[in-house]
Amino acid sequence: MKITWMLLAASALGFICSGCDVNPVTGQEEFLLVSPAQEKKMGLDASAQVEKELGQSVQDQQLQDYISSVGHKIAAVCHTPNEEFSYEAIDHKSVNAFALPGGYIYITTGLLKVLNSEAQLAAVLAHETAHVTARHITQQITRDFIINAGITVASTQVPSPAMRVAGIVKQLEGMSFTREQERQADEVGLNYIVIAGYTPYGMVETMEALQKQSDGRTIEFFSTHPSPEHRMEYIKEDIIKRDYIIYGKTGRKGEAEYKSNVLDRL
Ligand SMILES: [Zn+2]
Repeated sequence: MKITWMLLAASALGFICSGCDVNPVTGQEEFLLVSPAQEKKMGLDASAQVEKELGQSVQDQQLQDYISSVGHKIAAVCHTPNEEFSYEAIDHKSVNAFALPGGYIYITTGLLKVLNSEAQLAAVLAHETAHVTARHITQQITRDFIINAGITVASTQVPSPAMRVAGIVKQLEGMSFTREQERQADEVGLNYIVIAGYTPYGMVETMEALQKQSDGRTIEFFSTHPSPEHRMEYIKEDIIKRDYIIYGKTGRKGEAEYKSNVLDRL
């Protein structure tokens, strides 16, 4: 994604160190350079650039309200239900969904057209929501910055603020999540859709739909993610391991709702 990372970094200029926070998903303490409030500011600044760089917000209030309502069903059951999330459709042919720091989540019309049920939409939005709640973006900023600035525990040289920013810009440009973070986003997202009342197979079907699309061309949603076959394997294992199938039998699919609120309107 070509968002103006310079702007993100500039808005983070004020940070020194957020210190140790408890990760809402793992419950573990971790050292992070950006606080939740700073994340919010970074996301707000970056979200202002989304329309300019990635595509217009879809001009259809019914469709946007629907995307938002499904997203907020996920947000209501996530690890940080008091956090403010926003879910928006943008007009772009790429098959993509992404999260900015601070809970700004986007899905493209290209991806919306590939899906065919509300449960599948919920699965995509839940995966992105999990990247936010598990603080993956801040983990990456922190990790990349530490590597880039060459800071070690033994180091006595504290980098200047200019060096800090330069490091962040460079690393944000090439930032992608690790395989562990992607898997965690799938597993946590799967949990969210089940608690929100959707069939867990919504996530498996999403992978199947995307896999079909990916034949012979690069799918943006995949370019930074593990292969769909691999993801499908562990998602199916998880469904059995966690007895999600019991819930899954009664879980919602919402095909008619998705058709009338999304597919018929695109
Ligand atoms: Zn992801």
